[in-house]
Amino acid sequence: MRIGFSVFCFVLIAILIVCAHIARRSRKSVGKPLSLALIAILITVFGNLVITLSNAKLMSSVGYYIYYIGMDATVFLLLIYSLAYCDFKWPNITIRIAVYTLLTIDLVQYILNPFFNQAFDTEAIIVEDNLYYRSIPYIGQYYHRIVCYGILAAMLIILIVKMVKSTRIDLEKYAVIFVAIVITALIETYYIFSRRPIDTSMIGFALCGVLLFYLSLYYRPRRLLDRMLASITSEMPEAMFFFDPNGKCVWVNGPGRKLVGVTIGNYETVKDDLTFLFGDIDFTASGWNRRVTLGTEDDVNYTYIAMKSITDDRDRITGTILRVRDITEDQLELKREMYNSTHDSLTGLYIKEYLYESIDKRLREDKVTDYMIGYVEIMNFKVINDVFGKEFAELTIKKAAQAIEGYISAKSLYGKLSTESFGVLISKKNFDETAVEKNLAIFSVSDGSMDHRILVHVGIYDINEDDEINVPLFFDSARLATTKIKDDYSKLIAYYDDELRNKIMYEQLLSNQLPGAIESRQIRPYLQPIVDEKGLLSGAEALVRWIHPEQGFLNPGKFIPVFESNGLIADVDRYMWRCACEILADWKKRGIDKFISINISPKDFYFMDVPAEIRKLVEEFGIDPVKLRIEITETVMMTDSGDRLKIIADLRSSGFLVEMDDFGSGYSSLNLLKDMPVDVLKIDMQFLRDSERNARAGMIIKNIINMSQDLDIDSLTEGVETAAQFERLYVMGCKLYQGYYFSKPVPLEDFEKQWFD
Ligand code: C2E
Ligand code: CA
Ligand code: CA
Repeated sequence: MRIGFSVFCFVLIAILIVCAHIARRSRKSVGKPLSLALIAILITVFGNLVITLSNAKLMSSVGYYIYYIGMDATVFLLLIYSLAYCDFKWPNITIRIAVYTLLTIDLVQYILNPFFNQAFDTEAIIVEDNLYYRSIPYIGQYYHRIVCYGILAAMLIILIVKMVKSTRIDLEKYAVIFVAIVITALIETYYIFSRRPIDTSMIGFALCGVLLFYLSLYYRPRRLLDRMLASITSEMPEAMFFFDPNGKCVWVNGPGRKLVGVTIGNYETVKDDLTFLFGDIDFTASGWNRRVTLGTEDDVNYTYIAMKSITDDRDRITGTILRVRDITEDQLELKREMYNSTHDSLTGLYIKEYLYESIDKRLREDKVTDYMIGYVEIMNFKVINDVFGKEFAELTIKKAAQAIEGYISAKSLYGKLSTESFGVLISKKNFDETAVEKNLAIFSVSDGSMDHRILVHVGIYDINEDDEINVPLFFDSARLATTKIKDDYSKLIAYYDDELRNKIMYEQLLSNQLPGAIESRQIRPYLQPIVDEKGLLSGAEALVRWIHPEQGFLNPGKFIPVFESNGLIADVDRYMWRCACEILADWKKRGIDKFISINISPKDFYFMDVPAEIRKLVEEFGIDPVKLRIEITETVMMTDSGDRLKIIADLRSSGFLVEMDDFGSGYSSLNLLKDMPVDVLKIDMQFLRDSERNARAGMIIKNIINMSQDLDIDSLTEGVETAAQFERLYVMGCKLYQGYYFSKPVPLEDFEKQWFD
């Protein structure tokens, strides 16, 4: 008995050493106090071992001292451990001092015991033929017991407080410790009162230590985990249904119970309810998910359903879980975002990119010949914006958008292409040209006080069967169609047709051919004479001609506007100026003292430094600038006049004579003339033409000539076709004359033959 028990104690001590060591190194905050408590228990057990093994009075007394003092240490350190375990601090300093004082007194009384014998004494007894020393308690020993039980009670109170305060979920964490300590205390109490010689309670003591070690460091209450998981799933917004491997519903979380209307435990109807709500559900298969849309368009509900199997750690299927989530909000948010990124904020119409995409898709799905492409443009939008303000302009855009929505059929797609233009995919079947023209092409916008009529031009591209689908190109064509509409209000819809197609292709062809045409001198100057009052040659105007190998003789009216619109005019003019300089250089050599007028396009100013360019040429050919006259149209001088006037002044200061071409064709008033720093005024030929039937036009010519005389500017009349005209202008005092009456524009050789030979 004695040997067996001793061996057992040794084993316990060894285990406690290991546990204390591990606890010490644990990263948990409870590790250190636990390790100290385990050492204290270990000392107590060791004291007991000494008692058990000793057969001499002194040795057993030493054992009892170790045991009792170890017990003090044990309860104290368990208290510290409990505080750490429960995350408590000492409630207040008084209690702390009280505990320290009580224990110190106990320690002191044991030190005094050898002298006063007030705590305990030992007496020899024989048990199973063995000699033991049993302790006889005196008053001090009772004090010891009260202190120990007191502290133990404090410890249990701490645990109770913690259990009351804690959520139901981690109640168990404290309860297990509580129970372990209570059981140990009961075993100990039983020993004390049974007064058995061998203190078997030590086994309980040591086991309690090991238990605390395990519970504090490794044990995670299963129920705690279960409850935690259960509460998490219950708090989840999604409904969850658990089925066992046989497909029987075994558990449903809160939202799930609410969804199908069942109470805890009554899961028999769950499957039917789910089927009723969401249609056929395969409860046997797992790993699927689907989206279910329920309700009406205004009150729509999107639900996400997913079935997943649950496997254990050996990959065996232990059941399936069906998750049902209401994704209406996400889905609506997604739709809203989608809407904002594809719709114009002002009108709510599709934005250009999305419209193109949608039309492209539609055309690829449907028969392309069922559709037409419409380009709708609010005319004079910039003026509307300037005159009536931004608010009214926005109102106009909104009204136009409404008009489009109102008069274009549901099968159409439409959207906004730019600030003032819209695009429409028109379903041919539902298209009524007169209705569109009446209701859409002119609509009115009210600013509160008055109605303003807004004009809209509509260009249409009719998609051909063999057109490759290219939405941007279709809209380009529809937009080009609007260029056919004249500002006459009679026709507001125009179609892109073969004529327009050919025109565009023709323009493209000419543009491509231009460089080669200049190179091979297909493009060349014709000269038209300019004569004085006596009909004698003063000079000539250089007018461009294109002798085209296929198209034949081309007048500038055929290609100048095309090149003015794409910028190639600069190449033409640069070349023409050079030709004029070449001729002048030749004339200079031959002693011919005549001038040549060259034409400057308003567009030239955008592409080059005109004066610099011309000066360079004059220098290169070594000619007198006075011989090169510069024709600038009236409109050039009217637009941002400050800058242009400077350019003219610059040219004149370089010695060039500047002529104002087509005077009177634009908006200029005679008044402006005095501010125009020009040398020659070329009176627009329209006046002369009108003057044949209209006396007023004749009066105007006379006034212009008079005025120019006053301002010391030479006047030149263009378009003189008859002797009578020449006569009349001569009487009016005109200085220079140009027109078919003298000669049409002719090639250089003809010109020279006619005038110099
Ligand atoms: P413009 O500068 O007003 O040129 C005068 C136009 O009137 C010329 O037409 C000329 O042939 C025509 N003309 C002259 N006398 C008469 C007449 O008695 N009766 C009629 N009915 N017409 C007459 P053209 O050559 O067809 O040139 C037309 C326009 O093209 C020019 O008008 C000018 O603006 C432009 N242009 C011609 N050559 C050039 C050029 O090299 N560069 C630039 N930028 N424009 C040019
Ligand atoms: Ca001219
Ligand atoms: Ca002219």
